[in-house]
Amino acid sequence: MNAPNTLTQLAKASLVDVCGRAVKSLRISVTDRCNLRCTYCLPAGSAGFNQSEDLLSFDDIVRVVRVACRLGVDHVRLTGGEPLVRAGLPELVARLKTETPVREVALTTNGVLLERNVPALASAKLDRLTVSVDSLQPDRFRAITCLGSIDDVWRGVRAAAEAGLHPLKINVLVLRGVNDDEIDAWVELTRDHDLAIRFLELMPVGEGGSAELARRYVDLTEVRRRLERDFGLTPIETRMGNGPARYWKVPRALGVVGFITPISDAYCDKCSRFRLTATGDLRPCLAHELSVPLREAIRAGDDEAIEAGFRQAGALKPAGHAWRQGGLTQIRMSSIGG
Ligand code: SF4
Repeated sequence: MNAPNTLTQLAKASLVDVCGRAVKSLRISVTDRCNLRCTYCLPAGSAGFNQSEDLLSFDDIVRVVRVACRLGVDHVRLTGGEPLVRAGLPELVARLKTETPVREVALTTNGVLLERNVPALASAKLDRLTVSVDSLQPDRFRAITCLGSIDDVWRGVRAAAEAGLHPLKINVLVLRGVNDDEIDAWVELTRDHDLAIRFLELMPVGEGGSAELARRYVDLTEVRRRLERDFGLTPIETRMGNGPARYWKVPRALGVVGFITPISDAYCDKCSRFRLTATGDLRPCLAHELSVPLREAIRAGDDEAIEAGFRQAGALKPAGHAWRQGGLTQIRMSSIGG
């Protein structure tokens, strides 16, 4: 099939889901393995990881992204598990930037392996970097991750800043009675640091749906209102990438504060993303166990079948999640990269 070249053909080719939302972003989990064991995601003793032969190869991922770009996707985010445990990850970034027309390639990492990978990621022309860090306190960081050292993460963040990987986003999952007493300290950090500190609400996905963790949920819309009072936080019109975060700023601060509120202030009506698991299942919505298996088509080099798979996923995509009504999502967050 010839690539579309007229606007009409392009519009016809662009993928719009059954609710009329254009699909612009593809989150690709390159592995379900991780070098940390965060208690709310992949508790200690977790097993049942994918075998390497079942994972999509870099050739496979480049092929899928080429087809996705034909359908209007222009933003790819590489996730995991922990994507930097996948050998040669910076090479995949470079290949996506040079062998596909994708406009932006982003990465979400826990930062533990970041410092040693920064030079290769920078020369691969990575566009956006997000580091997940749930505490500023070394002991608490260790308690949450079971394995990690916060010093490794901050060395990685500093190296990324020095290499010009900007904007630098930090994701903080807020958990009641675990780290919610650090919210003000994170906001204070934005005064003198050009960082985008983003607070995330716990989603009932995988481990996150357990009764124990459900008690840890914090309504971040309420938190934001308090920060508006206490810090004079004001909303700013800035979009950093394709994500759902909305940003505020402390007056005269270098950095910004973002809020990702899938429960208290959902954004499904504007959702423009699909997810691809490390084994090639295309998932139109994080919250629903619906997926279209693409690996066979990918391994067969059948671009038309891959395209048909994307269109099928678009036709299947629900209007939104049912988490506020008590809906739970079974898949492990580490299998789908958040
Ligand atoms: S729950 Fe589904 S529809 Fe809603 S924002 Fe997430 S992926 Fe999009």
